[in-house]
Amino acid sequence: MNICIIGSGLTGLSAAFSLKDEFNIEIFEKRQKSGGCLSSSKTKKGYIEDFYHHFFEGDEKLISLIEELGLKKDMEWLRGSTGYHVNGKNEPLTTIAEIIKYPYMSFLDKFRLGMLTLKSDRYDINKLDGITAREFIENECGKGVYSSFFEPLLKSKSGEYSDLVSAAWLVSRIAIRSNRKSGGEKLGYLKSGFQTLISLLEDEISRSGGTIHTNTPVEQIARSENGWIVNGREFDIIINTINPEKFHRIGGPDLGKYTYQGAACMTLGLKRDVLDGLYWVNMKDNAPYGAVIGHTNFVPYERYDEHIVYLASYYSGKTPDELQEKMLDDFKNRFNLNEDEILWNRIFIEDDAGPVYTTGYRSKIPGYCIEGVYYAGMFSETNYPERSMEGSIAAGKVVADEIRSTYSND
Ligand SMILES: Cc1cc2nc3c(=O)[nH]c(=O)nc-3n(C[C@H](O)[C@H](O)[C@H](O)COP(=O)(O)OP(=O)(O)OC[C@H]3O[C@@H](n4cnc5c(N)ncnc54)[C@H](O)[C@@H]3O)c2cc1C
Repeated sequence: MNICIIGSGLTGLSAAFSLKDEFNIEIFEKRQKSGGCLSSSKTKKGYIEDFYHHFFEGDEKLISLIEELGLKKDMEWLRGSTGYHVNGKNEPLTTIAEIIKYPYMSFLDKFRLGMLTLKSDRYDINKLDGITAREFIENECGKGVYSSFFEPLLKSKSGEYSDLVSAAWLVSRIAIRSNRKSGGEKLGYLKSGFQTLISLLEDEISRSGGTIHTNTPVEQIARSENGWIVNGREFDIIINTINPEKFHRIGGPDLGKYTYQGAACMTLGLKRDVLDGLYWVNMKDNAPYGAVIGHTNFVPYERYDEHIVYLASYYSGKTPDELQEKMLDDFKNRFNLNEDEILWNRIFIEDDAGPVYTTGYRSKIPGYCIEGVYYAGMFSETNYPERSMEGSIAAGKVVADEIRSTYSND
């Protein structure tokens, strides 16, 4: 039985890995490399993810995949410090003492924010799907907490949709990010980077006879008598991992509108640290990026022998014009960097970097099999209300299990 998987991101690779010994697998990938949002590029020493990534202690499926691939020793748990860039300064917000000292929020608002964080894992996420994040925060903590703390985060993450994003998304993010000790949040990473995970998945799939066709966008699909025609070739089963609306445009079933946001992430190699040792700095000041992420303030500097930072930006619709130039100019000026202090920079852009979880998204989550197509991806139940590596691996596994249980005796 021949299975076509559209997309070689973590969902597609996870489904293929799970099915590789029982079915003929062919993955079609439009980019030159696998990995999707978790792809990587070379630096002078090893690889670095094109988009910043880390994982969490509760990511059971990801951790067991890492172990199954023999990467347990590569796994490390690090502390991720955080702060805001405001009025031209990096303000640390990792420890209680730093939060108390932070001058841009009243003591009462800090207390309210602390209480919300403490009870964030006790809310029923399903009940929060119909309420906007703004409404929820203003009701629970007051307008001050929203405008001084959450509004810049939501604006940088969801842009024009920030007032429509559901409280389910926001609260689940707060809950998952509350695993903080005095040195910062406990976050997982692979010492050799996630490229190792992607490469091992590719190797395992090839070893079992599966094929990954990179540089091969799926441009058209159609029903055949017993299955599907994909780019002119016959398959028994399709697993779609891409935006369902785009999949419909190439011939898939119509599941309605899915609003995705794009992500543009610039990676830079620098001669000096501009974040005062912080890992994750959200921009409260207005800039063409919403956060500056100090990768080498998270993993040891010696791993790269240069300071690596990401400038993270989300957008909706078309990629903003001249984004790379705007980001770079702003970054240089804002952080007083001379030309010779920037060793290199590159930008990675993905228009479909994740669905925007606006209110009511829950009712749009597609089933795993619709009109003969298997669906798994960032839009799936396992990725609600925030997409993650864990959710994508889980989605790939769920469809693999469904396919196995339906077709294994064929
Ligand atoms: C900026 C950013 C930071 C993130 N950070 C984290 C993090 O720290 N921790 C975490 O757990 N998760 C993180 N995530 C989420 C995580 O990366 C994703 O959930 C996961 O990688 C998505 O995998 P996927 O396979 O579902 O989708 P994708 O990775 O988007 O894969 C879909 C693939 O389909 C391909 N494709 C699209 N159209 C076609 C076509 N017509 N034909 C063929 N191929 C096609 C695409 O090129 C892509 O390779 C982050 C995501 C982003 C965008």
